[in-house]
Amino acid sequence: MTNGFPKGFDPDQHRLLRTLYGDLVPPLEMISVRSGLYALVDHMFAQIGRLPHRRDLRVVRIESRNAGWLEIVTTGGAAGAGDIIADAEEAARRTCEHCSKPARMVVKVGLESLLSAPDVVLGDRLLCTDCADAFRKEIG
Ligand SMILES: [Zn+2]
Repeated sequence: MTNGFPKGFDPDQHRLLRTLYGDLVPPLEMISVRSGLYALVDHMFAQIGRLPHRRDLRVVRIESRNAGWLEIVTTGGAAGAGDIIADAEEAARRTCEHCSKPARMVVKVGLESLLSAPDVVLGDRLLCTDCADAFRKEIG
């Protein structure tokens, strides 16, 4: 069950965001986060979507890279968008990637994890205490 938290985004939630905010939202495959960050991404689009002058603003890609590091790439611009995006990136630094509770620690997932969990995705994860305990059991 180590792939219980793959990176991606919920297709239904994505469809709804596209309906609400159109081209502001990138294609589904350009959003690559674990489920704990879905609400944060959703909230960010809701806020940007409310900006009065956002016609040429596009979110090109959203990707969580290393533990707590969310990369949000945009083109164009809109007054106020920078602050909203910075807030989302900041929130990702304290949000559990698996369940969205307050994060407490970074769990290292290095090559040695492959010995007990051959299909685990490498790369460190920022998790809450409960998720860290559960995940450490999975990766041995
Ligand atoms: Zn958690």
